[in-house]
Amino acid sequence: MRFLPTVVRSFYAFSNATFRVAPPPLRPALGPTAKLGLPSIPFLGAFFGTSSSNNMTYPLQKGKDEWQAQLSPEQFRILREKGTEAPYSSDFDKHMPSEGVYTCAGCEAPLYKANHKFKSGCGWPAFFDAVPGAVTRHVDRTFGMERTEIVCSNCGGHLGHVFKGEGYPTPTDERHCVNGVSLNFNKNDPVKDSKA
Ligand SMILES: [Zn+2]
Repeated sequence: MRFLPTVVRSFYAFSNATFRVAPPPLRPALGPTAKLGLPSIPFLGAFFGTSSSNNMTYPLQKGKDEWQAQLSPEQFRILREKGTEAPYSSDFDKHMPSEGVYTCAGCEAPLYKANHKFKSGCGWPAFFDAVPGAVTRHVDRTFGMERTEIVCSNCGGHLGHVFKGEGYPTPTDERHCVNGVSLNFNKNDPVKDSKA
């Protein structure tokens, strides 16, 4: 069995290579649970069957009173209390600019570029991709459904949900279904496209 150590070594090298190319998990900041040495907060959420986004710590921290003073009642309900706007109610649903960036209505962080947007017909603004690192995903098990919630990585504001494998002819086959209320639009694109 002289070949066996070689095979094992090769496999080990391959495993290491795989680990090296894997992107690091996107964690805006360490939450209180990180002190316990547990692997990750989203995993904990999965174990306990609850959405973990309320327990996360985001770079931008504001109290409930501050958010209420800054946001409209509708923005507060959706961004801070995970509400959903009525379908077909947002002007951004049919808004298809050729350039510019959609920012978080809570903190103005750039979230989606104009060329990430596509027509889904679902009644909410839809994007197939996001500005790298700008959007954080959480498993959401409210109402007995398992969905992937998306929030702003900077302030934790609720954006909507992401759905995969629906067959839309986009590069990712993902649909970020975003409340228009959670977004502002800036026609000047402050995001540098590293792939350009
Ligand atoms: Zn934000």
